[in-house]
Order: sequence, then structure tokens, then C-alpha cells
Amino acid sequence: MAFYKKFIPVSYYPNIFDIDYQTLTKQGVKSLFFDLDNTIIAYDEQKMSEKTFAFLKELQKDFKIIIVSNSQKSRVKLAADQYPYVHFAKKPLLFGLKKAVRMAGFEKDEVVLIGDQVMTDVFGANRLKIKSILIKPIKKSSDKWITSLNRFFAKCILKGVKKRYPKAYKELIEPYEN
Ligand SMILES: [Mg+2]
Repeated sequence: MAFYKKFIPVSYYPNIFDIDYQTLTKQGVKSLFFDLDNTIIAYDEQKMSEKTFAFLKELQKDFKIIIVSNSQKSRVKLAADQYPYVHFAKKPLLFGLKKAVRMAGFEKDEVVLIGDQVMTDVFGANRLKIKSILIKPIKKSSDKWITSLNRFFAKCILKGVKKRYPKAYKELIEPYEN
């Protein structure tokens, strides 16, 4: 896969609630990997909102849900203990994502990773050849410095995406950045 293509998700949605999960089911998706920070909880929160909690519980009827987070165990456990999880996943490295695929027990084309970062979530998913859905971070201002740094690099890379894949950029990245 060409370098810049690795930063393009399959779809973009403003948040986890707006994703077209029915279409995912029709496409044969059986497991959803959710990033934790800024995807299902903000950095300055420790627990899911009631809305998110109820929403994921409903989704669980149709999908096997796995949390794949780069955060430490204590944080992931506190936030999403009711789901199987991979902590310290070190996305975009592959071992955490591979572990999640094994935990899911499905083929790679039957899982989708949903996350708020191009550099870790989308890049990692594309490297492993699994689908990814990009969403807007819940709260940008609560970012850790490492995430801010990632966003800085992401901005540079996304300029390259814009130049080489203008159509995909307009559709999937522009609404994410604005
Ligand atoms: Mg995140």
C-alpha cells in the first residue's frame, strides 16, 4: 500500500453514535475494536457517560466489542471493565491489534477499528489490513502531550494525503480536521 494511503480510513463519522452499524453488519463485520481515549471517553474522564455505556451495551447484541487502548491497564480497566480489552496496545505497532484479532476470534476482514487518531488508529489498522473508522476526538483540549505531538505529525502527513488523494481527503479527512 502506498505510504499516504495508510492514513486514510474506510469511513469518517463525527462520533461513535453516528456510525452506520447496520451497514457494517451487512458487510460481514462481527467485531468492533474501540479505541478508548477521546473515542469513548475524554482524557479528563475516568468512566464512560451513561449514554455511551448504554449505547455500547446495545451494540454488544450484534458485535463482539473489544477495547484496544494505548493507555495503561488501570485506566482501561476502570473505564471499560465490562469488555475484553488490550491495554498498552502501542498502536500503530501491530502486536496489540493482533492480540485483539485473536481475542475476537474472527478473520481480519470481519473486524473494524474505531478511533480518533490517524497516526495510531487508522495507520495501525491499515498496516494490519483491517478496516478503520475515524471519528472526531471527544475533547481536543484534554490531550496528553504525546497525543498533541501525534496530531502535529498527523497534520503534516494529512497534507500529503490531500495532495495525492484529494477525493478521499475531502470526503474522509476534511470533516475530521474542521
Ligand atoms: Mg484515542
